[in-house]
Amino acid sequence: MTSTDPRELIARTLGQAAIPCITSSFQAECVVLTHMLREVRPDIPVLFLDTFHHFPQTLAYRDELTGRWGLNLINLRAGASSVGLWQAESTEACCKRHKVEPLFSALEGYDTWFTALRRDQSPSRANLKEEELFKLPSGKSITRVAPIAGWTAKDVWAYAKQHQIPLLSLYELGYTSIGCEPCTELPPDPDNPRSGRWHGQKLECGIHIQAK
Ligand code: SF4
Repeated sequence: MTSTDPRELIARTLGQAAIPCITSSFQAECVVLTHMLREVRPDIPVLFLDTFHHFPQTLAYRDELTGRWGLNLINLRAGASSVGLWQAESTEACCKRHKVEPLFSALEGYDTWFTALRRDQSPSRANLKEEELFKLPSGKSITRVAPIAGWTAKDVWAYAKQHQIPLLSLYELGYTSIGCEPCTELPPDPDNPRSGRWHGQKLECGIHIQAK
């Protein structure tokens, strides 16, 4: 699969976008992509899914970077949050309540959605397109753009180093993919960076799965 230069893709798609946004979990990929987007659109809304289950380190890092970069941070929360739903019911129900529903509801207000997904993160992302229409449950379609789809983790870390971007401290403890605290562990498979997510029970939370 071919890869466009991320900055070219960003410049072109931002030039066409009326109301763009980026989603960020404040992992390395998201922060690197936010850094690139801010060069063109410093006030781009940065949507963060505040699931009530994040590591305290993630929340502290989010706040620190938001202050340092002056980010236009928008915290998205479930209408009726339910802490511990992952345990009381299932991770499917919990991700749906705290991630999928608030995000898809918020995305109704945008026409272009930037995401830092990469193809090599997981088999479920191997065929990721850099740009495609993404259908929301309401039937509305927005443009989803993944400028660093073709990058490796090494590329991400090299960019962060080159631009002196501080990264989330949890990486120093050995985490390679970081989401909510109850559903993130050190990766049991060193060749699969997302093997520490959801205790191997699933690969995705659902926010990148389109409505049919
Ligand atoms: S990742 Fe875990 S804690 Fe977070 S919303 Fe999904 S199931 Fe709930």
